[in-house]
Amino acid sequence: MSTITMKFGGTSMGGHDAIAQVARIICDHADQGNRILTVVSAMSGVTDMLLQAASTSAAGDEATHITIIEELRKRHHETAEQLIRSEKLREALLEDLDSLLDGLNALCHSIAVLREVTPRGMDLISSFGERLSARLLAAHLNDLGRNSIAIDASDLIVTDDNFQDAVPYMDETRQRVQEYLVPCLENGMLPVVTGFIAATRKGIISTLGRGGSDYSAAILGAAIDTDHLWIYTDVDGIMTADPRIAPTARVIPVLSYGEVGELAYFGAKVLHPKTVQPMIDRGSPVRVRNTFNPSHPGTLIQPQSEITAGAVKAVTAIKDVSLISVEGRGMVGVPGIAGRTFMAVARANTSMLLISQSSSEQSFCFVIPSNRTAPTLAAIRDELDREIQRKDVDRIWAKEDIVIITTVGAGMRGMPGVAARVCGALAAHGINILVIAQGSSEYSISLVVAADDATKAVQVLHDLIA
Ligand code: ASP
Ligand code: MG
Repeated sequence: MSTITMKFGGTSMGGHDAIAQVARIICDHADQGNRILTVVSAMSGVTDMLLQAASTSAAGDEATHITIIEELRKRHHETAEQLIRSEKLREALLEDLDSLLDGLNALCHSIAVLREVTPRGMDLISSFGERLSARLLAAHLNDLGRNSIAIDASDLIVTDDNFQDAVPYMDETRQRVQEYLVPCLENGMLPVVTGFIAATRKGIISTLGRGGSDYSAAILGAAIDTDHLWIYTDVDGIMTADPRIAPTARVIPVLSYGEVGELAYFGAKVLHPKTVQPMIDRGSPVRVRNTFNPSHPGTLIQPQSEITAGAVKAVTAIKDVSLISVEGRGMVGVPGIAGRTFMAVARANTSMLLISQSSSEQSFCFVIPSNRTAPTLAAIRDELDREIQRKDVDRIWAKEDIVIITTVGAGMRGMPGVAARVCGALAAHGINILVIAQGSSEYSISLVVAADDATKAVQVLHDLIA
């Protein structure tokens, strides 16, 4: 008997047909004698709607949240009516959903009165999507004659109070999971836990950040000592490239934790970047699979990497970024300018995706999300004011309309010539490389190119994958 933790994303929970399919997968594996822990996302699009309800309310708009909540009510009610045959179960579920939605309505109303919403308030509001969807699936499993229960992860996952991107305390979480969740599994129940949400030590609802349900599943899976973690999505696995850009893209059969970390970080929206962390300590395998094609083995993510012939396993592109350059002849040999710049970037609450410095020390550059460009430039100019006055720093500027292209593969490590092949292929197609950076892990090479060249660059590099 194995313990399997399954996470189902928004499209897998997107409507009654999808949820029925999810239940079939759970029941099949339970019937094979496994213990199943299920973690779910909100129905597709719901988290975005909730955030919109919060922000329109905060702007003093009293009407939009009402429309949004009615839309949510309609969608969840319709799904419940399709999924639950037993009148008693259905009535109980609808009542449960309504009381959540009424609570949400009251909350949005108070935000509209206050005309203000804090990150903590945002987390509370965005927690409703998973609370609704988990109840739908649990009720459906009960309707099928199984013994299921919906559990809010705010009772299980303990985090710090860094709302909207909270960090779990693993020991406390493990303790709660052992106390409340493990007994359910031992009794043969099929618990359905909300992804994404958690709570602080004081019991205030927090979230693990957008797309955080994958991470929830990994945290809970680690805490129950799961044998397998399966992340169910709506594609067959992690692809060698975005198939809309590179039509010959295909599923990657095996990736290492390190490789998938680079991929998730560099924009392949397959897995929340922190997902593998809790699994690394345990060495448990993770699999990305397709709810709608469940016999496909998907992508296996395991501790060690498999070196493939072409060295490069995947190519991704991150858009909506800009390249910030700090230039000045007076910077040569002056310690601390880069450090102070990076501190200023951090104070502006901007994260850097890639950093590069020329060996002449006359300039360095880095890439940030484009919507952070103006405040970040202002923060750096403020920090380097004296250097600018003294003309040690000549120019701090942003180049927009660029894209980071990343090639990932552990086989690049210690293998000479991969960078040359990558750059050579781009050069052969007339694509100009603005910046090149190799991660110290040597699992990836990233290049900055003009946005107009992005599609071609991905295609050319994808052709390198043997
Ligand atoms: N529902 C959340 C989001 O849309 C979490 C998740 O689906 O992973 O970000
Ligand atoms: Mg996701």
